[in-house]
Amino acid sequence: MMKLYKDLAGEIRKGRSKIGDFKAKKWANNTYLVSHPYSHPSVMDPFMAVHLHDTDVVRVFGDKIQLFTGGWKTVTTKERINRVLFQSELDYYVCQEKSLWYVQRARNDRHLRYPFAEGITIHEDGHITGAAPASASKKNEKLLKKIKKYAEGYVVALKAGKIPLPSGGDCWGCYMADKNGKPAFGNDHFIEHLEEGYFVPSLLMNAFKDRGCGSLYFQLATEAMRGKPPDKERFGGLLYETAERSIRRFLKKGLGLPS
Ligand SMILES: [Zn+2]
Repeated sequence: MMKLYKDLAGEIRKGRSKIGDFKAKKWANNTYLVSHPYSHPSVMDPFMAVHLHDTDVVRVFGDKIQLFTGGWKTVTTKERINRVLFQSELDYYVCQEKSLWYVQRARNDRHLRYPFAEGITIHEDGHITGAAPASASKKNEKLLKKIKKYAEGYVVALKAGKIPLPSGGDCWGCYMADKNGKPAFGNDHFIEHLEEGYFVPSLLMNAFKDRGCGSLYFQLATEAMRGKPPDKERFGGLLYETAERSIRRFLKKGLGLPS
């Protein structure tokens, strides 16, 4: 039985919160330790969870630890995972290199690392199962390059006045996004846009919304789409640089890459 499992069970016992039916203890911002002390329909064994927003980002069983992101490969997710791994007797942490995540040995062998996958499992004896295949890294690298190319191409088209205003003729998934820019029907259409080089007008606005950009950006983008590019000296850099960065970030996030 891992010491970490007992330690977390002990901490949670002192808690006064609940997540669903389960006893919980506040651990950090938006984060709870949650006890799942008996069998759950979806899993075999009892476990202690680190629960961030709506996701168990770490599940600690008696003999293994499982890691998840719920599609949010953010700095916060990584920090929570590493915080609990640091408390454990297992010698691993999650690191990021070139926008990819790895589960890596901390002290013994820095070269030993495994591409991250949902549910990747570190066992009590230190072996890893459920890592993404090495080809997944290659696949992600290709995807990152496509995103970069797409964002650059988008801005070139925007500068050239080739992107019209958002309309019902846009990709429906992009057009029907919610007020935070989250697309209506999942994110699969993003892949198609990358493949086809289809610069969806609504996508830029969604990327701005997702990033919490102020109204100035929407105004500048709207003017550029109307064929009145912003005053180069004053706002050109502001619009185009922010557009490129926002699109990259938005697509990475939407496609489950660290953003
Ligand atoms: Zn779309």
